[in-house]
Amino acid sequence: MDDCLFCRIVRRESPARLVKEDDLALAFRDTNPQAPTHILIIPKAHIQSIDAARPEDEPVLGRLLLMAQVIAREEGIVGGYRLVFNNGRGAGQTVFHIHLHLLGGRPFRWPPG
Ligand code: 5GP
Ligand code: ZN
Repeated sequence: MDDCLFCRIVRRESPARLVKEDDLALAFRDTNPQAPTHILIIPKAHIQSIDAARPEDEPVLGRLLLMAQVIAREEGIVGGYRLVFNNGRGAGQTVFHIHLHLLGGRPFRWPPG
């Protein structure tokens, strides 16, 4: 999508601190980190939200989770980590290109705010 911030990062038209990339997914550091490690993992193809995902998106959605697992190990996160998809404005989604938040390096409370 031409006007999507995260599509522009995929196309290298906007800068980002890249962490990992494969054929389906891209990971980069969040510019406003909410934890010592805060990385966003996105599909390279534009999908607006989890709610907009289709059955054929299943492989890429799985890839996001497994890329998070690998990055968490590589980042040396100890004591657990939090994985979050904000879905829709009411849940705090502000960028409408699916992104998995990987947060680590501090304790997390439940329920989330
Ligand atoms: P959301 O609120 O949609 O779940 O998360 C969007 C995330 O994208 C936020 O954590 C925000 O800090 C991050 N973000 C917004 N703009 C940029 C940007 O230009 N670059 C990077 N790396 N992260 C961004
Ligand atoms: Zn996009």
